[in-house]
Amino acid sequence: MKAQPKASHFVNGEWMEDTAGAPIEVIYPGTGEVIARLHAGTPAVIEAAIAGAHAAQGAWGAMRPVERSRILMRAVALIRERAEELAQLETLDTGKPIQETRAADWPSGADALEYFAGLAPTITGETIPLGGDFAYTIREPLGVCAGIGAWNYPSQIACWKAAPALSLGNAMVFKPSEVTPLGALKLAEIFIEAGMPAGIFNVVQGFGAVGAALATDSRIAKVSLTGSVPTGRKVYAAAAAGMKHVTMELGGKSPLIVFEDADIESAIGAAMLGNFYSSGQICSNGTRVFVQKGIKARFLSRLAERTAAIVAGDPLDDSVQFGPLVSAAQHEKVMGYIARAQAEGARLVAGGAAGNQGPLFVQPTVFADVTDEMTLAREEVFGPVMAVLDFETEEEVIARANGTEFGLAAGVFTADLARGHRVIARLQAGTCWINAYNLTPVEMPFGAVKASGVGRENSRAAVEHYTQVKAVYVGTGPVDSPY
Ligand code: NAD
Repeated sequence: MKAQPKASHFVNGEWMEDTAGAPIEVIYPGTGEVIARLHAGTPAVIEAAIAGAHAAQGAWGAMRPVERSRILMRAVALIRERAEELAQLETLDTGKPIQETRAADWPSGADALEYFAGLAPTITGETIPLGGDFAYTIREPLGVCAGIGAWNYPSQIACWKAAPALSLGNAMVFKPSEVTPLGALKLAEIFIEAGMPAGIFNVVQGFGAVGAALATDSRIAKVSLTGSVPTGRKVYAAAAAGMKHVTMELGGKSPLIVFEDADIESAIGAAMLGNFYSSGQICSNGTRVFVQKGIKARFLSRLAERTAAIVAGDPLDDSVQFGPLVSAAQHEKVMGYIARAQAEGARLVAGGAAGNQGPLFVQPTVFADVTDEMTLAREEVFGPVMAVLDFETEEEVIARANGTEFGLAAGVFTADLARGHRVIARLQAGTCWINAYNLTPVEMPFGAVKASGVGRENSRAAVEHYTQVKAVYVGTGPVDSPY
């Protein structure tokens, strides 16, 4: 199996290679075999990308918004035409089941491009009457934005960052995760095919050092990172030194609260989706499932039954629902968390071992009787490990749900809608669901509070994060000066 791109980078509308860069081996997590060999960006590649983006952005930003949108819409059409090829590549890059990559990854990326292509031409400034004189505002692009991606949704992340940035007149230098470098290159190619000028969307591969070089360059106006909280702290600090705008989409340990009156099958289905989809490698997962005591036994027995029926196997097989983890490092980390949960006294209800379908599989795993102090309730695992915690009262569960530095997402299952709204109002999280979980349509803002991040992706909210306001005062009479 091979998925070797023409070169490692895509800069100024062309493939670019510099074999002096550190080697990057891309594996297919389904089997562990190497499917591509790339190189990290060297200073020369990074310089070409930033300088190219900087040179191209002015004319792009000055273009009529509908003209930019027309190009983005052509890219959307190309993505949809090539849906199957792109899904296959995403599965090779990430190891996620083809069922998922057909439904979620590029389709969600195309939605974002379509949404912002429609929205951008409607973005205008305002006029402010001042009794004769007046002021007006212009919503301007920021300039060149750096996008730095995580490995769990590599193509979706590239699209979610490119869509608002480009539609609103910015250029972008995007650095994919070194673990999953392939999808973003396809996006760069598709944009050029759709008629986008060279230099507007550039892809430079690399490890953290390449991301750091982008975050500290004075020509970069904004850094949008999707990654872990520790990386977020570093990138935010680096960006602050240059007074840059930031969007930080970071990790979580989100609560999913199931009250006794909930539709229990739906709640179990949501908890499974929110812990096992993408083998649990989703930032907004509801990894602390709080179940009210009265339904605990029923919840756990049905959950164990349904978990045992999950079909794990070769991600390229149409019937497979559950794939491997993305890398050996992630596999080791997740197995370590499972061992620690057992050592700290959590009760294993399902899974708990490596899977036998390939070297990187971990069984979908459920622990019950998890307490707030256990490592499993405090740290992001980023794997298929669900922690079930018991609770008795609404007041208690709200306090416990909020007892974390994270604040990405939260969910509540209850038949009592008044309670659903009441509880959500008090949960410290940026993205919430009532009687649903992990649905992230582009129309809805996505983002976090507390240590899980700042800024919002998707929806109208993203416009604030990819533009800046210029205010212009217009004098209409003689200047009244005391001098
Ligand atoms: P990571 O933090 O290890 O890496 C993220 C990206 O940052 C990578 O491209 C990496 O090369 C780069 N990077 C690392 N150090 C850097 C530095 N000093 N300066 C600049 N860039 C640097 O995260 P990961 O392991 O790739 O992804 C998993 C994490 O991402 C999880 O914590 C997950 O919750 C989070 N995530 C968040 C969201 C969200 O939208 N909130 C979405 C997906 C993933």
